[in-house]
Amino acid sequence: MTKAEEIKVGSKVEPLRKTRPCPECGRPSLREHYPFCSDRCRSVDLSRWLNGSYAIPVTEDETKADGSDQD
Ligand SMILES: [Zn+2]
Repeated sequence: MTKAEEIKVGSKVEPLRKTRPCPECGRPSLREHYPFCSDRCRSVDLSRWLNGSYAIPVTEDETKADGSDQD
């Protein structure tokens, strides 16, 4: 936001964009880490993704058997 724009909206009660609560801990998010409150919460969210908690549910496909019996 430029200085001029800041002045233009300066009459409003909230000069800054309304903050959302952090999806991880519920604290107010910071602009630097939006939509999270901190880099830590961002990492937590990211690791959750990596751990597969957010993974799209896959239907168990048993027909995928390719006959590679390694026993
Ligand atoms: Zn947080």
